[in-house]
Amino acid sequence: MGKTEKYDHMKLIKQYAGGHKHLITLGRFLAAVSAVMTLIPYYLLWRIIRIAVNGENLDSIKIHAILAVSLIVGALLVYIAALLCTHISAFRVQANMRSSLMRRIITLPLGVFDEDGTGKIRRIVSDSTAVTETYIAHTLADKTVAAITPVGLLVLVFAFNWKIGLICMIPAVIGFICMMSMMGKGMQQKMKEYQDALETMSSEATEYVRGVPVVKTFGQTVHSFKRFKDCIDGYGKWTTDYTLMLRFPMMGFMTCINAIFAFLVIAAFLFTKNGVNSAVILNIMYYIIITPLVTIALTKIAYSGEAEMNLIDALKRVDKIMEIKPLEEGKTNERPADFEIEIDKVSFRYKDATRNALSDVSISIKSGEHVAFVGPSGSGKTTMAELMVRFFDVSEGAIKIGGVDVKNMPSSYLMQQVSFVFQDSRLIKKSILENVRMGKPDASDEEVMEALKKAQCMDIIEKLPNGIHTVIGEKGTYLSGGEQQRITIARAVLKDAPILILDEATAFADPDNETKVQAAFDEMSKDKTLVMIAHRLSTVMNADRIFVMDDGRCVEYGTHEELMQLNGLYRRMFEEYSKSIEWKVGA
Ligand code: ADP
Repeated sequence: MGKTEKYDHMKLIKQYAGGHKHLITLGRFLAAVSAVMTLIPYYLLWRIIRIAVNGENLDSIKIHAILAVSLIVGALLVYIAALLCTHISAFRVQANMRSSLMRRIITLPLGVFDEDGTGKIRRIVSDSTAVTETYIAHTLADKTVAAITPVGLLVLVFAFNWKIGLICMIPAVIGFICMMSMMGKGMQQKMKEYQDALETMSSEATEYVRGVPVVKTFGQTVHSFKRFKDCIDGYGKWTTDYTLMLRFPMMGFMTCINAIFAFLVIAAFLFTKNGVNSAVILNIMYYIIITPLVTIALTKIAYSGEAEMNLIDALKRVDKIMEIKPLEEGKTNERPADFEIEIDKVSFRYKDATRNALSDVSISIKSGEHVAFVGPSGSGKTTMAELMVRFFDVSEGAIKIGGVDVKNMPSSYLMQQVSFVFQDSRLIKKSILENVRMGKPDASDEEVMEALKKAQCMDIIEKLPNGIHTVIGEKGTYLSGGEQQRITIARAVLKDAPILILDEATAFADPDNETKVQAAFDEMSKDKTLVMIAHRLSTVMNADRIFVMDDGRCVEYGTHEELMQLNGLYRRMFEEYSKSIEWKVGA
């Protein structure tokens, strides 16, 4: 059997099976019993042929036959009982795995869903657990049978005529060697690459489907999803290379295990060279009956080895999610005195990144102040905003709201104090009413309407067939990116939290939408502490203070006028921005 790298998958499976683990053991035991019961009728058959050839007591043929049939029926029933045990435990393992995963996922930092991609997580929860279920339900019983059968067969094959048995074993041994070479060292890695490729394709496909509104808005083609196309091309190349790599060992394996008959013919010629006698005929007939079993057993072993590698890969993926450190729940009852945000010597590095996304940033935002973060792409603006709402925990330093470290606040309390509208804030496939109401579950229809008005969404509602009851994404009701962002603003308006974090959308900047989004932002940010991540400088000029980020550091801050006088990065950015506006007008 293909040896996989040392990984105690059965121990892990039994942990997930809990009280059902004994059913797995019972299932395997019954499968072994059934395998032995299946082999005995072959011996009885040999006895029947011998009795017939020798013309002995014909009555005993009947007894042998009845016994053989009873054993076959019995073996089948025992095998069904084995499958029943393995299925019940498999369903239990799958259910336990899924509920453990879901319990863990709920506790994970929000940033994980960006980092790993929701598509990948979905695939692990549904597909990796399904692989485990199939393995326990089917492969485990098959594997037990496949392990018992060759041993029993060897006994039978050598018990009657070891010379013929030996000749029959030659192709079986060569086939086995071919199989081992396929399952060699790099195989587990190959299985991982295969699953990785499937996972990437699945998450890119999800992104592609999610991006359909953008594609429609901009009239783009599938080629705008280059990563999606690249991963499909990559998968195609990987599978071709993999198939070519296994071409010779697989051909050898299939040829050998199906060539046992050919060797039997050679054996028959060799052993009948000096005349035919009944004993030789009897043995050859017996081998004709029994050799297909060798083929079946070897094929089963090959497939169960592959299934085991798939299982190990699936379990490792589940482990990866279970190993992500959950966000520690803050337990303090301390309530913030006001809504001042203090960023105190904060540094942050993404998991597996080689450099800091933020380095030693110290900023203080007063309660009720409207501030903007600007800076080149990749300078750390989004990261800064995400840390404020604990998408991740800072690597060094602290973020405090009203003097209380956000790490110490219960997450539900923190969420009540902050509303955020990020560029990729997504709507769920429910009515607009329900989507907006998520901001305040007990809001009346009138309150939701009021929030939609403030968020400048009335033009969207008016054109939809069922107004606020229209389900988004159903029957072709898609909203453009900008329209979706306005609906998420309505949700934040309804929530009415004292701190607002807004990531200005760049991707959907058609002029009409931009004006409306801006008006909605202005409306919702009255009397609130506002943190705005600005991608266009036109929108920040009225901010109380502007923080200029560069390479993970805050390099300048002040009002627009102060920063212009400073003659630094902001001024350079602003001048370039002004030039681009002129260029656009000129064009
Ligand atoms: P901005 O919003 O200013 O464009 P970001 O905060 O998105 O910048 O990014 C800051 C830095 O962190 C960049 O170098 C970016 O490549 C890196 N980064 C952003 N998100 C991730 C992530 N999920 N994993 C690893 N690195 C990231």
